[in-house]
Amino acid sequence: MGAPEAVYADFRERLHPYLAERLTGRIDVDVENTGVDDVQRAAGDAIAAYERKLEEEMLDRLVAATSSNGRGTTGLDATLEALNEQRVEALLLEENFDAAGVCCPQCGSLYPPGVTACPADGTATVERDDITDLAVRRALRQSARVVLVRDDERLEPLGSIAGAVAVLRLQSGVAG
Ligand SMILES: [Zn+2]
Repeated sequence: MGAPEAVYADFRERLHPYLAERLTGRIDVDVENTGVDDVQRAAGDAIAAYERKLEEEMLDRLVAATSSNGRGTTGLDATLEALNEQRVEALLLEENFDAAGVCCPQCGSLYPPGVTACPADGTATVERDDITDLAVRRALRQSARVVLVRDDERLEPLGSIAGAVAVLRLQSGVAG
């Protein structure tokens, strides 16, 4: 969104909340004499600051969740399990983290190394040197947010990969 300061302040207040929350920073440029590259360079700092903030917020949330209400998974095994169950709302990965694992060619489920047959359908699994890219794809397919953690050092001791998970909706009443 581009606007002079006065218009911006007024306009911002009128935005629908789902748009307003997408405004994460503001940069000042001289519109007469600034090219695309200059704008990109100026926005770089704002984008990096936003990403750091997002990282920190997600980790705050995750640390709180794992210690109290069980709404977080840490480490490869538990996080893959939550991904397979489509319960992941946000996947956190340490930048440059990779991990071996296996995937099921039938249903796409992901497992830690050593699982030779998919527990869900019995299909022989395929070994992968790195399954983090498949984990990211699976997360995106279930509309989870993927956060690449660069600066925050709290993720590594948690296993370099973690997930914020949705609470399972418990069935009330008696089955049958
Ligand atoms: Zn399977």
